[in-house]
Amino acid sequence: MIVTRFAPSPNGPLHLGHAYAAIVAHDLAAARGGRCVLRIEDIDGARSRAELVPEILSDLAWLGLEYAAPPVFQSARLEPYAAAAQKLRAMGLLYPCVCTRAQIAAAASAPGPDGPIYPGTCRGRHLAGDAAVAWRLDTARAAALAGPLAWTDELAGMQHAAPEIFGDVILVRRDAPASYHLAATLDDAADGITLVTRGADLFAASHLHRLLQALLGLPVPTWHHHALLMDADGTKLAKRRGAPALADRRAAGEDGLALANDLRAGRLPTGIRFAPRLHGTA
Ligand code: GLU
Repeated sequence: MIVTRFAPSPNGPLHLGHAYAAIVAHDLAAARGGRCVLRIEDIDGARSRAELVPEILSDLAWLGLEYAAPPVFQSARLEPYAAAAQKLRAMGLLYPCVCTRAQIAAAASAPGPDGPIYPGTCRGRHLAGDAAVAWRLDTARAAALAGPLAWTDELAGMQHAAPEIFGDVILVRRDAPASYHLAATLDDAADGITLVTRGADLFAASHLHRLLQALLGLPVPTWHHHALLMDADGTKLAKRRGAPALADRRAAGEDGLALANDLRAGRLPTGIRFAPRLHGTA
């Protein structure tokens, strides 16, 4: 059975872009007789706000989206994240890093999908693990161990995994049990996700997630990276740029079912449009 997911981070109110993502995930499952998992990605202690979770659930209900099961919370899964990190350490694929953001920025590395590519300063330094600010994946070594990998996006077709575009990414921070990449990859396996539904802004992440699946012996889903919504000046809708919250529309008495049907039909509110697809540009 097809299992999709909608996985919001409760670090700001949901906006129209989230509504579209939730509808895509919900409708792809419904159209194929499957189900959609709702997962709250709440392990970023500094940004996560528990009080937003009831708002998110109300927004989704307002849009008419129903889920067969209650939401799952990343914060309830810290042990499996730690176990997976331990496994990667035992394989010799993680190394401790003590570099600050400023030091990394000063090294003027090439840009990667998540920011500047780590220059590899701590790789091979054999630092004590308890000094670590973070644990990084030795990506070249991991990719060599895993061998050539492929993955498939339903819309963009077969891709050759290119995790090296991330350089040595952080998988564990001292203050958090897992980075987004490790947590999301483990969760998609734990939740039995067969079709990873998310926005095209995370297309590149799938190169890395495919590698983590190979290293950790996880099942390999198919992906569906949907188009993103942009505002009039061509930027992705984002909480931090003040995209109107669904909760405000709801409170103003707007009809959520009608909004959802408009989004389904590609009828976007004035000033909002779909971003051109960026497939394969990673
Ligand atoms: N939690 C992420 C977000 O809210 C989505 C991650 C994913 O879908 O893989 O942007």
